[in-house]
Amino acid sequence: MNFNLDKITRESVKNLKPYSSARDEYVSDGSEMVFLDANENPYESGVNRYPDPYQRSVKNVLADIKGAPADHLLLGNGSDEVLDLLFRAFCEPGQDYIITLPPTYGMYQVLAGINNVGVTEITLNADFQPQVSKILETQSPQSKLLFLCSPNNPTSNSFDTKSMHDLLSGFKGIVVVDEAYIDFSNQESCVSQLYKYPNLVVTQTLSKAYGMAGIRLGLCWASLEIIAILNKIKPPYNVNQLTQLKALERLQDRAGVAQEIQNILSERNVMEQALGAIPFVTEVFPSDANFVLARVDDANRRYDQLLAAGIVIRNRTTQALCENTLRFTVGTPEENRKLITALKSIA
Ligand SMILES: *Cc1c(COP(=O)(O)O)cnc(C)c1O
Repeated sequence: MNFNLDKITRESVKNLKPYSSARDEYVSDGSEMVFLDANENPYESGVNRYPDPYQRSVKNVLADIKGAPADHLLLGNGSDEVLDLLFRAFCEPGQDYIITLPPTYGMYQVLAGINNVGVTEITLNADFQPQVSKILETQSPQSKLLFLCSPNNPTSNSFDTKSMHDLLSGFKGIVVVDEAYIDFSNQESCVSQLYKYPNLVVTQTLSKAYGMAGIRLGLCWASLEIIAILNKIKPPYNVNQLTQLKALERLQDRAGVAQEIQNILSERNVMEQALGAIPFVTEVFPSDANFVLARVDDANRRYDQLLAAGIVIRNRTTQALCENTLRFTVGTPEENRKLITALKSIA
């Protein structure tokens, strides 16, 4: 393994002295103390105190659910914040670049733009799988992050395990595996590979399977060394108290979450079958996520027709390899029936 974390971390980040918050300087041991250290309003409202900067309670529950130790976890204001922290820790603006594999999640490119970091795009192959040797030949000391979105948005497939392993062992920068849709997949999470690959970062989110897009909670699993760097540069109170409380409440209801995922998977089946029977649908791609990508005769026209019927989907026709494709999120049984009725009436 030729991965050297020190060598790929930005000089300014290495030299940084982080802000020390009141809650960093005094960590409660549970005993009754009078807190006059943070200039808070003392009158109890449920949110008058600053939240735990390290979200210990939430992390402990997540560690239990995901089967990895809590100290390998960093939480952020959505995966978007977690991904942004990775750019700020490792990518020197105007100098370094990232590698993405289109068609994929648009935020990698946007975050690169915000951080003035270049993007090298290496399109997936015709089976929507990474071109491993091309990626490894393209890397340089300036290619700091490689984004593998698996299951991938918008193609909905998982990347094959051998390709992922070859990339993790051959890439000299950090490999970010975005597992936003992992709970809908048959594939095992890469979190179990953390000890094998020091350059692995796995991101997950409560926005999809856990049904909490509104609270903004993203997860980042990585080595203790990488987590320490990210903790140094994150805003001290980046996950607010309401989010932490709401997440804890939802995470207790494991059976409820599992049931919703089961319902979504069985509705995904229904949707795949129904789409396959629509005459203007030419291809339905197998899904490992909570959405279905389908190719149609004329994506722009079909998109407009569905909109007129009161149904909003995502037109992916401008994405690489995705000409004339539409992306359908799996809804409730009733929503899906409405979609199918509309598709039939348009056809
Ligand atoms: C939806 C999605 C996310 C989730 O982002 P959040 O900021 O956590 O809501 C992350 N990655 C991919 C590929 C997604 O599709």
